[in-house]
Amino acid sequence: MSARRHKTGCPICGKPVVKEYRPFCSRRCADADLGRWFSGAYAVPGEPVDPADLPPSDDGGTERD
Ligand SMILES: [Zn+2]
Repeated sequence: MSARRHKTGCPICGKPVVKEYRPFCSRRCADADLGRWFSGAYAVPGEPVDPADLPPSDDGGTERD
């Protein structure tokens, strides 16, 4: 039984993961993944957000004074 088993490395570059940037090896890779995620999200032809779905805001509608 060899206990010396690395978990999955950085999903971006495969380097050993740094605890601080888990599950990545560095901030750069974390950012890279984030950017990838965002560009992927933006690329998805999603439905437009319906204002009715948003929570109503109490500010602005109510008159005070
Ligand atoms: Zn990396």
